[in-house]
Amino acid sequence: MNVLMLIIPLAVGLASAMLINYLADVLPATRALTKPVCSQCKSEYSLTDYLFVKKCKQCAHNRGMRPWMTVLILLTLNIYTWWMPPARYEYWFGALLLCYMGVVFVIDLEHRLILHPTSIIGCLLAFGAGWYANGILPTVLGGAFGFALMFVFYYLGVLFSRMRAKRMAVSGQAQDDEEALGAGDVILSGILGLALGSQLVFRGIFLGIVLAGLFGLVFIIVMLITQRYKKEVFMVFMPYGPFLVVGALAWIYFLPTTA
Ligand SMILES: [Zn+2]
Repeated sequence: MNVLMLIIPLAVGLASAMLINYLADVLPATRALTKPVCSQCKSEYSLTDYLFVKKCKQCAHNRGMRPWMTVLILLTLNIYTWWMPPARYEYWFGALLLCYMGVVFVIDLEHRLILHPTSIIGCLLAFGAGWYANGILPTVLGGAFGFALMFVFYYLGVLFSRMRAKRMAVSGQAQDDEEALGAGDVILSGILGLALGSQLVFRGIFLGIVLAGLFGLVFIIVMLITQRYKKEVFMVFMPYGPFLVVGALAWIYFLPTTA
């Protein structure tokens, strides 16, 4: 491999990371492509301050590790996939999917939110990548399976919440209308199904659910040890999107698949 060619994945990785950071900064707050503002005092960043992740000039608010983590992870993943492109998707479709999944991952992790505009873009992207990699029928089926599977979980979650609400009403506790699994997770699962295709969709979503379960278990154990565990709070507030994204990513890029 020509070392000079590494400039391509480095540039793509950096550009993707900057786009992910920017969208994760503005979309949850304004739902539009606005100028980025300080999350604390709401004053606008200058372009250079924003690009170089400087502290806010007004209130000295520090932007934390996320912008740097995003750059580091996207550079690493892009170099890896340039070096070993995902068998069926090739580098460029892979890079676009990575960028979309990065946006979903960060926004869901920070805000517990999956936005419809990102879902529409993701749907088109995953449909294109899936069609290219697997053909049209496996792509449509993959999307349908992904959507249907998570919809079943979503519906079970709704039933569970209703039962809980009834029980809480009987015992006189305050009610909440939080759902363990949001409609955004169902749509995301459909989108990941499009990209994975009918061959990989079940493996991808299964891996995502297993990872979420393992993480939940570790989290509960840590909370129990540190005596900060509050019953039921955790299952309600845990974002599932990042785990679904990691499950799909693993099958697209890293795990060996036959055929
Ligand atoms: Zn500020």
